[in-house]
Amino acid sequence: MNTKNLSYGRQWIDDDDIAEVAKVLKGDWLTQGPTVAAFERSLADYAGVKHAVTFVNGTAALHGAMAAAGLGPGDRLLTTPMTFAATSNSALYVGAEPVFADIEPGTLCLDPVKAEAKLREVEEAKEGRVRAVAPVSFGGYPFAMEPFRRLSSEHGLVLIEDACHALGGDRGGHKIGFDADMTVLSFHPVKHITTAEGGAVLTRSDEYAHALRLFRSHGITRNPEDFEEAPEGPWHCEMQTLGWNYRLTDLNCALGLSQMRRLDAFVKRRREIAALYRELLADVRGLTLPPAHEGHAYHLFPIQVDAEARGPLFAHLAENDIRLQVHYSPVPLHPYYKKRFGYRWGDFPEAERYYRGAISLPMFPLLEDSDVKRVADCIKTFLGRGS
Ligand SMILES: *Cc1c(COP(=O)(O)O)cnc(C)c1O
Repeated sequence: MNTKNLSYGRQWIDDDDIAEVAKVLKGDWLTQGPTVAAFERSLADYAGVKHAVTFVNGTAALHGAMAAAGLGPGDRLLTTPMTFAATSNSALYVGAEPVFADIEPGTLCLDPVKAEAKLREVEEAKEGRVRAVAPVSFGGYPFAMEPFRRLSSEHGLVLIEDACHALGGDRGGHKIGFDADMTVLSFHPVKHITTAEGGAVLTRSDEYAHALRLFRSHGITRNPEDFEEAPEGPWHCEMQTLGWNYRLTDLNCALGLSQMRRLDAFVKRRREIAALYRELLADVRGLTLPPAHEGHAYHLFPIQVDAEARGPLFAHLAENDIRLQVHYSPVPLHPYYKKRFGYRWGDFPEAERYYRGAISLPMFPLLEDSDVKRVADCIKTFLGRGS
């Protein structure tokens, strides 16, 4: 039998997207042109913030956010073990170090109570200064921001949401991107919209936006208002800080701008798929559905089964051309982090418990209802106790 190969995520490119990219290819600006600014405007307006600064990918955007937040040697970034390695790696890039607090099992996101305890522990041990906190809207779940706002204002932290899973989600009547000091997005093909590779930081702060723009372009400014020295002529530009070349091209931004028109439709379809999974898998014993929330953006649909069942179920799905992933192996338990910082299994009981049973089911807007039913049937047959 010929079945469609299913993965956990994939892009949806249509003819309009292709035409928009082709237009830029035929124009004057392949990079550093007006389409970059137009895409940034579209992102910022969508989230209701003043600035969006694009980067070559989400990881570079995180790197920029850490630099703009002023993190450096001696500083700590407080974050979650249940994320992609880029979140905490970005602290290492600027010479700071990440510290991890466990997740809340009900949301799979950073537990604000444990985060605060961790912060006090670091302060009391005088092991550097926690300077920023980076909760992750894991899977697209819009965790409550209020406790992190409070923690940030009480301890003078910069609040950076890693919202790489959450573009298009809603929190308290606002779009994701509105709440934190800086919000980081990724436009990798598995994410809500794609630019192939790409990322951005959203912020309402002029100061952060300025630092982010310098950082992504060698630390060089051509804006006369920002010059530290008297211009020697119209060619004058100044390198004021050490930056990188992290600029996203006009080609990527044309794709992103075109995809933004369908973002709400993409998220709506993701929510429909989630509702269908919830209906089809509601009474399956030994299976836990992901946390629900009306503002959920559903980058992922991670189910949990018993730890002993996870490997065999994963293999069974693969035999049926459903090739999935596990999000994530807790970051501090990767060999690099274990060797460098001495973390061990047992340090993050909730993240580890979740990880051991987790499988991310196919979740992308091109999925058809029949695909969702096929996945659900396959799981129910395997667990052998379908309702
Ligand atoms: C995708 C992702 C990133 C990194 O984004 P890239 O665009 O792949 O560099 C960072 N954090 C999280 C949580 C992500 O899912």
